[in-house]
Amino acid sequence: MRIFALPRVKLCNLPTPFHEARRFSEKIGGPRIFFKRDDLISLALGGNKLRKLEFLLGEACNQSADVIITTGPLQSNHARQTAAAAASLGLEAHLVFQGEEPEEYKANLLMSYLFGARLHFVKATSLDVEIVNERMQEIAEELKAQGRNPYIVPIGGFSPKGSLAYVYAILELLAQAAEAGIDIDYIVHASSTGGTQAGLIAGCKAFNSNIKVLGIRVAYGFEPFEERVSEEANATLRLIEHNDIIIKAEEVWATKDYIGEGYDIPTLGGTEAILLLAKSEGIILDPVYTGKAMAGLIDLCKKGFFKKDEVVVFWHTGGIPGLFVGPEFYGKDLVKKG
Ligand SMILES: *Cc1c(COP(=O)(O)O)cnc(C)c1O
Repeated sequence: MRIFALPRVKLCNLPTPFHEARRFSEKIGGPRIFFKRDDLISLALGGNKLRKLEFLLGEACNQSADVIITTGPLQSNHARQTAAAAASLGLEAHLVFQGEEPEEYKANLLMSYLFGARLHFVKATSLDVEIVNERMQEIAEELKAQGRNPYIVPIGGFSPKGSLAYVYAILELLAQAAEAGIDIDYIVHASSTGGTQAGLIAGCKAFNSNIKVLGIRVAYGFEPFEERVSEEANATLRLIEHNDIIIKAEEVWATKDYIGEGYDIPTLGGTEAILLLAKSEGIILDPVYTGKAMAGLIDLCKKGFFKKDEVVVFWHTGGIPGLFVGPEFYGKDLVKKG
């Protein structure tokens, strides 16, 4: 396998922590629940995009790029992590935000600004892929005309090289599970573009693990999602010359049951999950991704989806700045007194 031979830059302090959450598990009458803490990846308040960026910016550096361009919604964790990664490598970053420039920069957007990224705003939503891609291309052309060498990171770092990071992360997890003396039955995580899920599924297959990956979706779109994830997983496996494995769409488990009204619109379940984890374990979840994913895990426990003696890993993918946008983002129920 070629996994260790692909260009990579160091952005993350790995392995990320891995620990059991006994009080939480008891509270919900669940199976054994462990946390994989990618929220604690050391750079810039952490998150799953930093793992992907190790390989994506590895390729950028390999191509002698000096400017990184990417895109996301105004409160994009991915844009914030890309800006931080670029700053830590001495590269310039241009961020194309989907939406009008707000009067006040908050949370992720504030941090993107602090990291010195050039901010561009286009009147588009995340579904207007073409408008956003065109703007990134335009910026790339302008930079090239100035003698620069730009590299475009796709939205959410969705590409086989990004997913590859999560193949590698499975190796990391299996080593930690062996050390803890446990066999993992399930991984539960927030799934949006599907790139992280593709990597996790590919990793489990590549390393002969029977762990089932449960993607709790947090956004509509990207349909047909299961096909998208399986294709991405297969493309990732081809990248490391694993031509013998083919993942079928039917092998991808993902649910839309916990998205609620839509991406970045808080749900009551998500808000309750944030409160419960904070109180029972001192762990911060975010309203857009990990809160909803945890609402899914809690609900699956209630429905008896897991057996008592099974081991479930909740992969915390970060997103913590989302908690600091304001009540319109995390739901007013979070701060209700009494
Ligand atoms: C981007 C993101 C995800 C989803 O990752 P995908 O690879 O796009 O599915 C999950 N959690 C957080 C906090 C994120 O920022």
